[in-house]
Amino acid sequence: MSFSGEVKEELVRIENDARHCQIAELAAILIYSGAVRTDGSDVKRILIQSDAPFVTTRCLMLFEKLSLISKNDRSNLQDQNTFSLDKNDSGVIKRTLQTIKYKEGDKLVNPLVIKSLCCKRSFLRGAFLSIGSMSNPQKGYHLEFVCSDTQQAVQLVETLAFYEIHAKVVARKKYQVVYIKESEEIVELLNVIGAHVALMNLENLRILKDMRNSINRKVNCEAANITKTVNAAAKQIDDIQYIKDHYGFDNLADNLREVAELRLERPDATLKELGEYLTPAVGKSGVNHRLRKLGELAAKLREV
Ligand SMILES: [Zn+2]
Repeated sequence: MSFSGEVKEELVRIENDARHCQIAELAAILIYSGAVRTDGSDVKRILIQSDAPFVTTRCLMLFEKLSLISKNDRSNLQDQNTFSLDKNDSGVIKRTLQTIKYKEGDKLVNPLVIKSLCCKRSFLRGAFLSIGSMSNPQKGYHLEFVCSDTQQAVQLVETLAFYEIHAKVVARKKYQVVYIKESEEIVELLNVIGAHVALMNLENLRILKDMRNSINRKVNCEAANITKTVNAAAKQIDDIQYIKDHYGFDNLADNLREVAELRLERPDATLKELGEYLTPAVGKSGVNHRLRKLGELAAKLREV
């Protein structure tokens, strides 16, 4: 199953909401999925169609919990992906729309229904269930809500802002897409809507990814340093050999000759180690200074 699917499957199992929160969630599902429809003769109907069967199941559960339909009544399930109320259920439809405080033509969830922070959470959960999705975090961080209306996008962005989640909006064909790309904010949203298992999975992935990155960085860095050291030593040996052949160690000052001989004996020693072999010992920068002098001398000899 996709990561989105896992999140939704977890969300539909949440049970301990208060009635006001259940109303907020149902309102979000009905309004954001565009379930409330009017047919030609102005008769209202409610139609939930989802590729994910658990969204339909969730809807049925909320209708039951809010006593809008009686328990174990499956007559409104056309199939596992479709929940439908039509002209035969006008009483249920009327009570449902009253419960979610829906007014004719509303495109938004009535703000009265999502006044409390607890209800805002449930509203976001309902919105994610009906129009939300997120990418597989192994491939990248992206969570989005596909709204059919600008006002709906604004309502979502404003509600997310209550939890310090900063969403952006982009137009995609005829839709307004509210999206979040920051992994920390995606984690926060999963926390807000109650997807704690998904949140932990995401955090584990994040930790693994961070660890892998920092190990890679370290390895790359060490490899680069080693290459640098080896290249530098090779150049020094080359220079020293040239001096030996074309100038002679006897003509060098004692301190330079010592380092030159030592470098030929110990081609893979670090500067610090070379310094320790000298008597008296010389610091890394002292060794570096002498090697640089030798390098300059070799360069001059090569010019003539
Ligand atoms: Zn509430």
